[in-house]
Amino acid sequence: MSNTLKKIKDLLVEHHHAFENAIPLIASENVTSIQCKEACNSDLSHRYAEGWPGERVYAGCEWLDQIEEMAIDLAKKYFRVNFADVRPISGVVANLTAYTAYTDPGDVMCCMPIPSGGHISHGPKFGRVSKNLINGTAGAVHGLDIQYLNFNWEEMNIDVEKSAAIIREHEPKLLLFGGSVFLFPHPVKELSEVAREVGAKVMFDAAHVLGLIGSGYFQDPLREGANIMTGSTHKTFPGPQHGIVLSNTEDKEETELLKKCAFPAMLSNHHLHNVAGLAITLAEMIEFGKNYHGQVIKNAKAFAQALYERGFKVLCEHKGFTESHQVVADITNFEKTIGLGGDIEKTLEKANIIINRNLLPWDITRDHRDYMNPGGIRLGVSEVTRLGMKEKEMEAIAEIMKKVVVDLKNPKDVKADVSELRKEFQDVKYCFPAKTKAYEYISFK
Ligand SMILES: *Cc1c(COP(=O)(O)O)cnc(C)c1O
Repeated sequence: MSNTLKKIKDLLVEHHHAFENAIPLIASENVTSIQCKEACNSDLSHRYAEGWPGERVYAGCEWLDQIEEMAIDLAKKYFRVNFADVRPISGVVANLTAYTAYTDPGDVMCCMPIPSGGHISHGPKFGRVSKNLINGTAGAVHGLDIQYLNFNWEEMNIDVEKSAAIIREHEPKLLLFGGSVFLFPHPVKELSEVAREVGAKVMFDAAHVLGLIGSGYFQDPLREGANIMTGSTHKTFPGPQHGIVLSNTEDKEETELLKKCAFPAMLSNHHLHNVAGLAITLAEMIEFGKNYHGQVIKNAKAFAQALYERGFKVLCEHKGFTESHQVVADITNFEKTIGLGGDIEKTLEKANIIINRNLLPWDITRDHRDYMNPGGIRLGVSEVTRLGMKEKEMEAIAEIMKKVVVDLKNPKDVKADVSELRKEFQDVKYCFPAKTKAYEYISFK
């Protein structure tokens, strides 16, 4: 084998081994079933199929067309919608598809402020997050004029009254809900009424909470007034890295426009192997999603409580901490001992606990902290739940994190506790049976 090939293989194997022995708590990540992995490694990763199934501009699509049609039907069933486009290759591409369908460059869009949890794909062309200049997708790619809604720091949610005033003042073409820090359902119902007054369409970016919504938890945006829902299919929805556009419109012209804004506006090839993986995961979630996502939410609440009892300033105790897969904590009480978000992230990484630093809504404007070393951390339990962990293990993880962050134990020593905890949790759960382990490195013959 050439040296390059060997080096890359060694790195891949090491990566897999590290994840077998880690506690993965990145809120935007998950792990796919073995059957999904197999589909994602199929020959479909070499193919093109532009257009809609049955109306392709490529030959050789007979079988992948049937798979994509199944993916569409399964998505309609799982999300209880009458239109699904499974072609967008990521959440950002799904968002751009919706922006293109409902707005023109120069139009106003109202959405969550980025430091409060809005996503970079919602942002303006030139924005500033502390010292860093950011180029948000909505502004930089589609020319939208971004006006931020008001976010209540105490409630960690969009303030209905103040945001209604902002919508009436700026008369946007599009009102966008959803974000990357997402603890509680957004006031879609209340503010959609205001959006209708000014003639705005309503969009819900469900990248993080797509699986929760599909399985019937969190909220139901398309029945609360949203015209369109976009998402990533690999966060709480435990599928391959891909995107999706969903709508309940009966209007044929609107669905035709949505299709055209995906292809040809946003896509050429659409990663057909991942469409196959998505179809498989949809079948899994129709069967096991209620149990899986129910446990995700229970685990998040248990984890938040366990951390809170161990000295972590978990946000929103007065509201039960969270209604989603996420837990957010203010870690500034550890500044003198370990440091801020970036430092804690690095220290926990040495113990094989993988977490995210995260801006708190007040970090920049009030406390002048930087994005690289913010005052918060964001934790997600989707992946550990898919490995079969329950409330008891959430308490065990909180205890291990306490050893590093509160008791200041050497993280290298704590690594052994992490491996020990992980020993019994090596399979992907909430899917059809398979023999291959969750993070097993698969070598082809
Ligand atoms: C992750 C995320 C996205 C982007 O998703 P990709 O699939 O990585 O492109 C979009 N919006 C929100 C709110 C997100 O959290």
